[in-house]
Amino acid sequence: MTADTHPGPGMTADHAMMATGTRMGTRSAARVEAMAARVMAGERRALAQAITLVESTNPAHRPEAAALLAALSPHAGGARRIGLSGTPGVGKSSFVETLGTRLTAAGHRVAVLAVDPSSARTGGSILGDKTRMDRLSRDPSAYIRPSPAGRELGGVARRTREAITVVEAGGFDTVLVETVGVGQSEAAVAEMTDVFLLLLAPGGGDELQGVKRGIMEIADIIVINKADGTLKPQAERTRADYQGALGLMRQRQGDAPGYPVALTASAATGEGVDAVWEQVTGLVDWRLAEGWQARRRAAQADAWFRAALERGLIERVHADTAMAEALASMRIAVSAGRLPPDAAAEALVARLRLAMA
Ligand code: GDP
Repeated sequence: MTADTHPGPGMTADHAMMATGTRMGTRSAARVEAMAARVMAGERRALAQAITLVESTNPAHRPEAAALLAALSPHAGGARRIGLSGTPGVGKSSFVETLGTRLTAAGHRVAVLAVDPSSARTGGSILGDKTRMDRLSRDPSAYIRPSPAGRELGGVARRTREAITVVEAGGFDTVLVETVGVGQSEAAVAEMTDVFLLLLAPGGGDELQGVKRGIMEIADIIVINKADGTLKPQAERTRADYQGALGLMRQRQGDAPGYPVALTASAATGEGVDAVWEQVTGLVDWRLAEGWQARRRAAQADAWFRAALERGLIERVHADTAMAEALASMRIAVSAGRLPPDAAAEALVARLRLAMA
């Protein structure tokens, strides 16, 4: 896409070192540089290694991961980032398989990433499971990466976001980020993508479909999947119901005329899938032209920065035994009503300031 989507001048290696507070050795720096070059040359093995590095929860890997992201980020930002959610069984994998193979056939390079902190794995719905996207997983123009391990949404979301940087620098022009529509992860996915698709099944209101209140509000495009065979008439009725409900919703900033929109499609037959893609590109391109996309990405970047800053400060407190103990006893005192929350926070910040002086 155009330079409009570009994040601008990237973080330098010095920034990365400042970010991690660690200086890398020359061997590490050379390794990172070589890995970045191989990622940008489109080497699949390097892509996998790079994502493994940025996903690593080992703090010792963080300086290299930060330096790698610093090297790659000036080359990222050019893809259409599409979020996709829906309850297990609605047909997410099938839809991604059908849409993805059509896109690669049309010359696109498609990366599929997943955000799944709750681990719906136990429910048999494994996001980004390659066996569920058989054709796409064997497609040389596609790259599928399952959700990084972890129970904490923040951590899983951060690692997926960083994986977006890696695949974009690797030349993928379309990034599909999949999540299960039963928790809070869809908000996290909406915060890292340009457009958000909600997949639903024919029939039943959102309560029946297990769709949480609030998800409708972040959806740009609702797709009633399985609009085939005997389900087709019901899919059309469901679509009309949702289109009506969307019409009652408050107009959001960055909504193109006619959006949000509800459509029917069949991942099984492929019918309607191209029309869904047209709506996706129509909306993304409109937002790009109107400046909404740049604004959205800037706001996303700012929110991640603040979240990372807060996390870093909290980690700094926990890394200091005396401060961690003070924090623990303050929390007890605050909960018991013996200490006002703001005063406690101020006291801890004062200690932090002293420790950093
Ligand atoms: P996910 O859990 O949301 O990823 O759903 P899957 O893609 O695994 O699909 C769940 C079930 O629905 C599978 O048995 C699919 O074959 C079926 N399915 C998916 N898409 C369609 C569709 O468009 N039409 C029909 N009839 N069945 C579908």
